[in-house]
Amino acid sequence: MRALIQSQLLAELRKLLVDEQQSLQRLLNQPKLQLLQKQPINTAIQHKTAADTIATYPLHQAAQIKLSQINKAINRIKTGSYGLCVVCGHSIHEERLIAIPHTPFCSQCISAH
Ligand SMILES: [Zn+2]
Repeated sequence: MRALIQSQLLAELRKLLVDEQQSLQRLLNQPKLQLLQKQPINTAIQHKTAADTIATYPLHQAAQIKLSQINKAINRIKTGSYGLCVVCGHSIHEERLIAIPHTPFCSQCISAH
């Protein structure tokens, strides 16, 4: 079985993931109002902006989901399964990992969803 990803690329992707993990953790630790100011608000969220709590909740939730995906990706690096699609088990293209380092799916499986 060949090496999935060159170790140099893996080290770079790991650094990207750790950096993003830290910035998301900082974001999630901020008071909700600061979170609201720092994040671009898309029209879907603006549409139902009745209170700060409603407006910030989806952003907060999205950040938490992303953080958990990043945590899992870092775990996969530790266990050696990083770069393999969690659905079909095939290796994920390097270009795709560079674009979305935390992705657990290959491009075929993500387009099947
Ligand atoms: Zn797949």
